[in-house]
Amino acid sequence: MDLKSKIREIEDFPVKGVSFKDITTLTRDKEAFHETISMMIEDLKDKEIDYVVGPEARGFLFGAAVAYGLGVGFIPVRKPGKLPGETTKYDYDLEYGSAALEIQTEAIKKGDRVAIIDDLLATAGTVLAATKLIESFGGEVVALEFVIELVDLKGRDKLKGYHVNSLVKYD
Ligand code: 5GP
Repeated sequence: MDLKSKIREIEDFPVKGVSFKDITTLTRDKEAFHETISMMIEDLKDKEIDYVVGPEARGFLFGAAVAYGLGVGFIPVRKPGKLPGETTKYDYDLEYGSAALEIQTEAIKKGDRVAIIDDLLATAGTVLAATKLIESFGGEVVALEFVIELVDLKGRDKLKGYHVNSLVKYD
């Protein structure tokens, strides 16, 4: 299936000059959503994954479905202040400004094998923040899965040494 044809591009969202890749048209399509999740499961099924980690918010949509398919647990990574209980935060820089992500402190244990799943790889700031959180507890980031990769932003270059899989590529 041509998954790219199921993704809608919306110009000037959320700010002028950005061509936003809208994955809701893909998740709404039962065959496209099923194929997306199946392709990620196929890539991960022999990697002895213990947990899927998904960053807020679109990482939840794909990550939880893949975790279910693999028969493993799902761990959310969220913006500060959203997760209950003790949390650990990682601050990172954006092109303009900064951001932070949190994970529950007891979620990952040393030696856990983790796949991170998100909808889109751009500069890799988000997935690197999630990676740092997992590795700070001794977890091993075994694979990084994305529906979409914005190739020109060269996020992949910052992920050397990791297994990176993306299903749909844009220049
Ligand atoms: P990065 O941290 O790699 O620069 O950006 C990736 C993050 O930004 C992902 O969590 C993704 O959800 C979000 N993102 C940035 N641009 C887009 C876009 O055009 N479409 C979608 N669906 N998400 C985007």
